[in-house]
Parts: sequence; C-alpha cells; structure tokens
Amino acid sequence: MAVVTGGGSGIGRAIARKFADHGAAIRVVDVNLEDAEATCQQITSTGGNASAHRCDVTDQQQVKAFFQQIFERERLSILVNNAGVSHIGTVESTTEEDFDRVVRVNVKGLYHCMQACVGHMKAKGGGVILNMASIAGSAGLPDRFAYSMSKGAVIAMTYSVARDYLSDNIRCNCISPARVHTPFVDGYLRKTYPGREPEMFEKLSKAQPIGRMAEPDEVASLALFLCSDEAAFITGSDYPLDGGFFNLRG
Ligand code: NAD
Repeated sequence: MAVVTGGGSGIGRAIARKFADHGAAIRVVDVNLEDAEATCQQITSTGGNASAHRCDVTDQQQVKAFFQQIFERERLSILVNNAGVSHIGTVESTTEEDFDRVVRVNVKGLYHCMQACVGHMKAKGGGVILNMASIAGSAGLPDRFAYSMSKGAVIAMTYSVARDYLSDNIRCNCISPARVHTPFVDGYLRKTYPGREPEMFEKLSKAQPIGRMAEPDEVASLALFLCSDEAAFITGSDYPLDGGFFNLRG
C-alpha cells in the first residue's frame, strides 16, 4: 500500500493514478478532502483500490493519528511526500508569516510524515520514501527565497533519512522537477500576471531548454520507477526532471 500526500491535485494525483494503474492500493491524503475524493473516484472508476483521507500535514497530531489508523489495518510500503505550497518573493519581500507557512507545509510536513512512518517501515522489513523537491532547492531562481529554502531542506532531509535507515532497508530519494504544468502553475499565473496568462505561460515554458513544461504524468513515471524494486540500488539521490535546466542552458 502507498500513501501519497497532496494527492488531490497536480503531480500527487498523477502519482496516485500511476501507482494504482500498476496495482498498488493507494491512500490519498490531502488537506482538501473533496480533491482527494476526486482522485480516488478516478482510480476506483477503473477498478483500482483507493481511499481519500483529510489530513493537514502541518499538524503533527493529525499526521500521527492518520498513520496510526492506517498501520492498524495494513502495511505501508511506500510514502510519497508530495504536498507542498509555493511562494514568490525575495528575502526582503517575504513576510515572517509567509516564511513560516512555507516551512510548516514543505519542511515540517515532511518531517511529520517521515517520523510517523519509519518505525512502521523498520518493523515491517523496509519501505520506500519519495520526497518532492524542486530545482529551486539547488539552483538560484529569482524571487524564490522561502520556497528555495524549503526545497533545499527537502533535499537535505532526504539524504539524512536515506543515510540513517540504510540498514533498515528503507530507501529514500527525491525528485527535483523544473516547471510542471499543474494547477500550482495556473494559480501562480492567474495571481501574478492577471490578463497576461498565455504570454507568461509561453515564457515559462521556454525557460526549460527543452521548450515546454513537464506533464504531471512524466513526474509520476519517474516516481513509479524510484519506488519500484527496479530501483533497489537507488537511495540518497535527488533526481532532476528538468528539461535540460541544469546542464543545457546557454
Ligand atoms: P498543487 O497545488 O496542484 O498540489 C498540491 C497539493 O498539496 C494540493 O492538493 C493541496 O491541497 C495539497 N496540500 C497543500 N498543503 C497541504 C497540507 N498542509 N496538508 C495536506 N495537503 C496539502 O501542486 P503541484 O504542482 O502538483 O505540486 C506538488 C509538489 O511538487 C509540491 O511539493 C511542489 O512544490 C512540487 N513541485 C511542483 C512544481 C511545478 O511546477 N508544479 C515544480 C517543482 C516541484
């Protein structure tokens, strides 16, 4: 069984669907229950096994309670920490409130979920954890002060957990996508460039050397591989899915 956080939208929904298509039972966790249910509906309507759960990953007690009731019934083999929020701003324009919100979701949310799960995975002989980072975690992008900080922390936590649980047969990796066309991006364009969405969509697409954004399903394909036994030798890695962003600019 696999848990996907933030599975009610975008990349998380694509991962939940892809894993279900390959036979996994999926527990879709999201702060927005309606969206989680919509993901599950898509899975169950084609014969898959999925259930939706409202859980705010920023709340440690909620996270503990959610996983406890899951562990009473079934074995968790895969945890995908995908829930995340974005923020635009420099160090000067980022308020303390915004900074704390990004930390609570993107950093503490992962800590809460991984802390709740590793004991269970150890006791059951192992497991796989996959975290959603971003190219912003290791490249200097403009106006991404808090977001970059949070994704840098995701990469560091990934390495730390991978190291500490090597002998417990728990693999831990992360994916660092460049822009992926999801509601995350559409919302950003609506808010930041009202009336100029198509023009800015084009501009953001061209920011990837490959000339377009990734599709959520492309992230899901890499996630499926990294969580499968085919990737048994891979742990402590940050996988770019970047359309050439890191190596092919200029
Ligand atoms: P999205 O906004 O479409 O989906 C995020 C989901 O997380 C939503 O369903 C939301 O309800 C859920 N969520 C937010 N806060 C939560 C909380 N406190 N508890 C539980 N669920 C919560 O975003 P997306 O584009 O699919 O992004 C998914 C992940 O991929 C994020 O971590 C994001 O930082 C990362 N990412 C996205 C892009 C991109 O271009 N879209 C690029 C790199 C990395």
